[in-house]
Amino acid sequence: MTDDSGGRYDLGGCTVTTIRGGSLKLDGGAMFGLIPKPLWARIYPADEQNRITLACNCLLVEWPGRPNRRTIIETGHGPKYNEKEQKIYGIDPANWLLPALVARGIDPASITDVVVSHLHFDHAGGLTHKRDGQLVLTFPQAQVHVQRQEFEDARANFGIMTMTYREENLAPIDEAGQWRLLDGAQEIVPGIRALPTPGHTRGHHSIVIEGEQRAMVFAGDLMPTRHHVGAPYNMGYDLLPLENRESKRRLLSWIAEQEGLLAIDHDVEWPVVAVRPAGEWFEVTPASEDPA
Ligand SMILES: [Zn+2]
Repeated sequence: MTDDSGGRYDLGGCTVTTIRGGSLKLDGGAMFGLIPKPLWARIYPADEQNRITLACNCLLVEWPGRPNRRTIIETGHGPKYNEKEQKIYGIDPANWLLPALVARGIDPASITDVVVSHLHFDHAGGLTHKRDGQLVLTFPQAQVHVQRQEFEDARANFGIMTMTYREENLAPIDEAGQWRLLDGAQEIVPGIRALPTPGHTRGHHSIVIEGEQRAMVFAGDLMPTRHHVGAPYNMGYDLLPLENRESKRRLLSWIAEQEGLLAIDHDVEWPVVAVRPAGEWFEVTPASEDPA
């Protein structure tokens, strides 16, 4: 089962399609950090185990003038979970990025570049999967771009979440020599650049896609749902909450100035939004899709 309700956004000479790379459930309290439950539960209902449902939104970026270049941003949770984990996280291992791409007629071998915001399991899990019991690359021809700081922290398991950096998502990329480690703000491929937004992790970056008419920014776990746009809405998982808030303020104000679009990684209903100033902060509204 895959969700094929992806939207298409034309940035000018460059199109972005949202692809649902599965969904998972995480504890609502952990997802909303210091926000009291009576506040968040009103806008985001939890199940009987106090979990909330999160989408794993991924992006496919294409340039009509450059048919040989196709980039995937973020890979979602992937399929490699035992029964216990499937239950804990509410993950359906049949519903992830690869089947969603195949359902759209996209050959994973045609993907030239994959960018991940950070290497937590629900972002990097789709980089690999198992075939006949062996770990294999989901995108056999692609370079995989991530910040060097994030890569080193993943390898050192630096963080407060246990079990989120998983070797099974990383080792096959080592063996294939596909990593491309980034040092701060730099171009990833022409038209896409990395913008460090530390806070959730030290090496977390956002990904800026610049078309001829407008830009879209994929903000990863800087603000995982539209309900995390507000200044105090950090996750309990964030390593550096104050830095996260500052990264969020800087990014939202840049997007609002540009009249750009913001892609939100875990929002179930609004994967792409517009941003505008509101009082001392910002508000978001769903962005309208462009016709295919
Ligand atoms: Zn994360």
